[in-house]
Amino acid sequence: MYTAREQAFAEEVRAFVRSECSEDVRRKVFEAVAVTAQERLAWHKALHARGWAAPHWPAEHGGTGWSPVETYIFSETLAEEGAPDLGSFGLKMLGPTLMQYGTPEQKAYYLPRILSGEDIWCQGFSEPGAGSDLASLKTRAVLDGDHWVVNGQKMWTTMAHESNMMFALVRTDPDAPKPQMGISMLLIDLKTPGVDIRPIILLNGERTTNEVFFDNVRVPAENLVGEPHKGWTYSRVVLGNERLSIARIGLNRRQLARLKRIAAQQGLTTSPLFRARIAEASIELDALEAMATAMLDRARAGVAPGIEANMLKIKGSELQQRLTRLLVEAAGRSAAPFGPGAADPDRPWLARLFKSHFDTRVVSIYGGSNEIQRNIIAKSLGFGASR
Ligand SMILES: Cc1cc2nc3c(=O)[nH]c(=O)nc-3n(C[C@H](O)[C@H](O)[C@H](O)COP(=O)(O)OP(=O)(O)OC[C@H]3O[C@@H](n4cnc5c(N)ncnc54)[C@H](O)[C@@H]3O)c2cc1C
Repeated sequence: MYTAREQAFAEEVRAFVRSECSEDVRRKVFEAVAVTAQERLAWHKALHARGWAAPHWPAEHGGTGWSPVETYIFSETLAEEGAPDLGSFGLKMLGPTLMQYGTPEQKAYYLPRILSGEDIWCQGFSEPGAGSDLASLKTRAVLDGDHWVVNGQKMWTTMAHESNMMFALVRTDPDAPKPQMGISMLLIDLKTPGVDIRPIILLNGERTTNEVFFDNVRVPAENLVGEPHKGWTYSRVVLGNERLSIARIGLNRRQLARLKRIAAQQGLTTSPLFRARIAEASIELDALEAMATAMLDRARAGVAPGIEANMLKIKGSELQQRLTRLLVEAAGRSAAPFGPGAADPDRPWLARLFKSHFDTRVVSIYGGSNEIQRNIIAKSLGFGASR
């Protein structure tokens, strides 16, 4: 599928990960152990020093200027090698949105800080009662002199506790003819007085996400992205980029390889039923990859992704869930935290299988639930309204 040049490039990337990303960190990624903020930042800085922190950004903003195919090879090779994810919020979601809609001052100030990892961003869109129906969000921002005064609550704000900045959707015109028309996007420094970040502990027992409360938080007027009341338009760009990054083909490939290995260890490769289930997942993954590369070909020709991004999100997230479920089934009793086979190289990861299984429950919810993705696809094909 790849040219000789593209294959050589993949090997260059592989060698870089192996030399610059510590084995400890890569092992953690393979074993589904959370990497620390410091470990992620160290890897971010190594990539930044090599000029590879933002492969998908245009060269004028400090990106590599690579083709979509090179960018794809890069991110999938990183995933295969167990490099930690740098997180999507700054590099994949806010950065491209600022490039398109930010003021010249916002681009000049924030883009280099995203690139270097100096600012760590979180996404403040969802609220209690405003998830799928995001346009009904209530967090209010009122202009008072040269500041916006923000009051309200955000919900499910992933990594807010490890971030210093949030891009948030806020209601700036409650009287707009349509709810979507009264929303703006604000860049909020989380150290501002009046911001209160409280943990949410998920089913896997970990804190990755939060509730964030705003009590008369004063945000400089120049931190409004683009124009007032246009935040809904900007949020479409953010969410489109988020959905593209949820398919995780490299991660799925790694999981499939592990599944085959564990199934063989457990004697399951003699079971026609289990073999058929592995084959089915493998075919789905090939189809997903074929679709992603077809999208890249179109991107090369300058065609923006349409509903394919929604389709990739659905299929990629379902496959992640299916593979962790098959892994739990294949490992069987070995997936229990204590048990025989402690010397097994897969052992630490096996003991965390249930956690991974729970982790992947969320991928069909965040970035817009899969039901909502299906509604969007149906609507774009002319089958009724999305909400
Ligand atoms: C772990 C995690 C991390 C997250 N991180 C972030 C973050 O960092 N920032 C952020 O802003 N948000 C974040 N979210 C929020 C996420 O985007 C929302 O949870 C998601 O959009 C669903 O909204 P909701 O939870 O309010 O559920 P609801 O909108 O109440 O939906 C509940 C159920 O009803 C279904 N449903 C709702 N409306 C329809 C409809 N019209 N047709 C068919 N089915 C429908 C949904 O599919 C879902 O199954 C995160 C969520 C989770 C779980």
